[in-house]
Amino acid sequence: MNIVLLGAPGAGKGTQASKLEQKYNLLHISTGDIFRANIKGGTPIGKLAKSYIDAGQLVPDEVTCDIVKDRLTWQDAANGYMLDGFPRNLFQAEKLDEFAHIDLCVNISVEFSLLMDRICGRRVCSCGESYHISTLGGRTTCAKCGQPLYQRADDNPETVQARLNTYNTQTAPLIDYYKKQGKLVTVVSGEGSPDEVFVQICKEIDNFKAQQ
Ligand code: AMP
Repeated sequence: MNIVLLGAPGAGKGTQASKLEQKYNLLHISTGDIFRANIKGGTPIGKLAKSYIDAGQLVPDEVTCDIVKDRLTWQDAANGYMLDGFPRNLFQAEKLDEFAHIDLCVNISVEFSLLMDRICGRRVCSCGESYHISTLGGRTTCAKCGQPLYQRADDNPETVQARLNTYNTQTAPLIDYYKKQGKLVTVVSGEGSPDEVFVQICKEIDNFKAQQ
């Protein structure tokens, strides 16, 4: 089963993907994580991506699509995957349909006023875990693996505003794109816990599976 996780920055796509990965044994592919690993490794892709990421803009489509197309050919993607952060505009969605078959698009809907605080208060671990400062009680290490937590370079108010604008203009139209294909399910993430959203997503996935 191949899933697209759609949602604004801060909607909790990464958090949900980690949980779903364990439950359904689906590979989690995050284009943001791939870019960050390339930046850390100082690769040519990382050097190119950094200026776009720092500005809250999308990395050029050709580069991004080639990365995903290649990643989907790896053996570990053969049992199904979740795409987190891809596609992010119509061009990418149409390209994706040329080289992959998507079964379901899970749209995580969040009230916009909640996003700025969620993202700017986010602290992440290199193992993939993500926290909010309001729940950390001063702790600076990951509860799962003990490594130090850090704030992503693009999780600052200016860049977040640009990322939210990019989402509104370029990514939000994908909701309609997948609706027209009959593949869209929407779950709502409010003030509640990630576990509540997880239950909603699992219901949708189980429904989908039951119909196959
Ligand atoms: P994310 O971790 O998904 O929030 O992505 C962080 C940043 O990486 C985004 O703000 C973009 O600059 C870049 N990025 C991630 N996915 C894509 C994509 N599908 N297309 C273009 N740029 C992307």
